[in-house]
Amino acid sequence: MTIQALELFRSVPRYLTARAVGSKVPGLVSGPLAPLRLVNLKDPEPLGEGWGRVRPILSGICGSDLATISGKSSFYFSPLVSLPFVPGHEVVGELLDDVTSVHVGSRVVISPVLSCEARGLEPCPSCAEGLTGRCDRVTTGHVSPGLQTGYCADTGGGWSRMLVAHASQLRPVPEAFSDRKAVLLEPLSCAVHCALRANVQPNADVLVIGAGTVGVLTLLALRELTPAGRITVVAKHPKQREWAEAFGASEVVLPGEAVGEIRRSTRAMKLKPERGQSFLLGGVDVAIDCVGSKDSLDLALRTTRAGGRVVLAGIPVGGADLTPLWFRELELVGAYTGGVETVNGKRRDSFLVAQELAAAAPIDGIVGATYPLRRWREAIDHALAAGRLGTLKVAFDPQAD
Ligand SMILES: [Zn+2]
Repeated sequence: MTIQALELFRSVPRYLTARAVGSKVPGLVSGPLAPLRLVNLKDPEPLGEGWGRVRPILSGICGSDLATISGKSSFYFSPLVSLPFVPGHEVVGELLDDVTSVHVGSRVVISPVLSCEARGLEPCPSCAEGLTGRCDRVTTGHVSPGLQTGYCADTGGGWSRMLVAHASQLRPVPEAFSDRKAVLLEPLSCAVHCALRANVQPNADVLVIGAGTVGVLTLLALRELTPAGRITVVAKHPKQREWAEAFGASEVVLPGEAVGEIRRSTRAMKLKPERGQSFLLGGVDVAIDCVGSKDSLDLALRTTRAGGRVVLAGIPVGGADLTPLWFRELELVGAYTGGVETVNGKRRDSFLVAQELAAAAPIDGIVGATYPLRRWREAIDHALAAGRLGTLKVAFDPQAD
């Protein structure tokens, strides 16, 4: 039997081509130079004891997928993946085998990290603490290198009609959840992790840069899980502004207004360098970069008060000026994926925390468009232009024709 799948197959020189043209010419990332192709692959086989097959029902397109496809992600990643791979790590699907305590026919979401347990290894120090996102062994064991499902040649990925997953990755979904809500549990678990990495103190001033899916879900998690005070959100597009307001932003500003607005709300002093963007002495206690561009990280570093914290939630694609990090003695921390979180003193799986938030929050409309695999070029173009088009999340419906 064979399955339809989108496969990322390109070698490095083609990536460079995509990188050179990808950001300038619309359509080229999904055009003839794309590193993706639609193929028929052999059904993936479970990789041993504790593995089972999953039939994806919906599979999201993530900013990190787009950065990878358009050649914008760092070469740092190259030894952490194995080509060719099927992208897609935001997956809700149907389990096709009994896997330990999860039964065939269950609807599951995938916790994507391919950590020590999935690789049949003794736990590394991070995995032993439940912090699987920090696993040191994502390139070893009996599974090919791959930081996550969706970057590994052996497991398949969500942008296909079948993948294989390990018991450690399976999270059953409550029946009351729609598929469109369930497919958000993975990005929401990342947002939960990000909000907690921000270490927000009571009534703190927080800046969230970006109001795409990551920004909006991080805002939701900040409001539900932290004692944040004023939260200012930087949004480029009108529909993003509406989402940010609906999820609890105190103020929504355009990128060009952000420094001035934060100066006013935090009573900081604004200084204008001979060249480049203005910066503040004073500013927010915490800034969270949910975009990952040079401009967004620059903005975060330039508007955070001395001794404050900057969280990198988006995959970073550009080098920012680190002078404020040094001069303001900022803390710069990464927030990569979910894991075990400490919420109100209790250690809990970020997927369960995400599930509780999702049950109560009106997030169904976040998935704004779905596409069958054969229309992948349209899907990628839509995802690349999502902000402008007023869509938050674009997903594949891999079983559709
Ligand atoms: Zn590990």
